[in-house]
Amino acid sequence: MAVPVAGDVEGTRVPVRLVVDLNRCEGYAQCAFLAPDVFTMHGEEALMYSPRAGQAQREQVIRAVAACPVQAITVDGADAEETRTDAR
Ligand code: SF4
Repeated sequence: MAVPVAGDVEGTRVPVRLVVDLNRCEGYAQCAFLAPDVFTMHGEEALMYSPRAGQAQREQVIRAVAACPVQAITVDGADAEETRTDAR
């Protein structure tokens, strides 16, 4: 029997919901490079993003969260282990 993990609803993965703290974001654009379907830059510093990402973008979003140099992206619906970064 499969053990449900965060992001699973009765064994079915749910879309990833995300929020970017735009006060923290400094426009480095790593997220736009790693998940271009979800994050786009408008001009040099203005970030636009979709607050929900589907399964096709899941891995990209997880990489974007890990790559953001100021930890501005928060996700819900992705496994905690997948998005955890080593703060040491
Ligand atoms: S990687 Fe982080 S700091 Fe850079 S644009 Fe994305 S959210 Fe902003």
